[in-house]
Amino acid sequence: MTRELIYVLLAFFTLCGCKKSEVADSTCPPTIFLQPYGNFTQEEASKLGKDLQKLLWGMFNVDMDCEVLPSQPLSDSLLNDAKTRYRADKIIRSMSSKADEHNIYIGLTHQDISCSVRGKADWGVQGLSLIPGNACVASTFRVKNKRDFPKVVCHEFIHTYFNYHHCPNDDSTCLMQDAKGHPNYKNKKGLCQYCQKVLKM
Ligand SMILES: [Zn+2]
Ligand SMILES: [Zn+2]
Repeated sequence: MTRELIYVLLAFFTLCGCKKSEVADSTCPPTIFLQPYGNFTQEEASKLGKDLQKLLWGMFNVDMDCEVLPSQPLSDSLLNDAKTRYRADKIIRSMSSKADEHNIYIGLTHQDISCSVRGKADWGVQGLSLIPGNACVASTFRVKNKRDFPKVVCHEFIHTYFNYHHCPNDDSTCLMQDAKGHPNYKNKKGLCQYCQKVLKM
């Protein structure tokens, strides 16, 4: 191996080697992979990617790389026991082998998704993240005003990327407020002062 090649390889591994804790200087933001499922089109996914980039720029001042993956069918193995909706946790697990802290995967669907939460075995949700984890999923099915969907996706991305739970202040204007089963994104434009202070890229 030539000395030049070794230097190139060293530079490559240095560039790829920054950890989440070192992201604060914004030299190493993650790549976001949008995975549309079923009839969620490529066009919808790329439009959503642009909206998400705008939201993240507004909150973190970081220009995030967003890539749309080819659409995939939602397989029957992802259905709940009653076969009435898709299990959000199963969708996340189906993406998680490809995801890591530099490559965040977000599944997108128009189908109803559910998970076990608040003592309910199969509760319909707008989105889900597993903390810790590097993949999440969001569905338009329960989002009344479709204009709010990028905020739903952004909420799940923040859970996933920062391993952050919900706004400790339960601030009704904060994007990370716990929906407690009744999400309302209408008046949310970004993070509250507290979340803004602790979440940095
Ligand atoms: Zn907050
Ligand atoms: Zn949440």
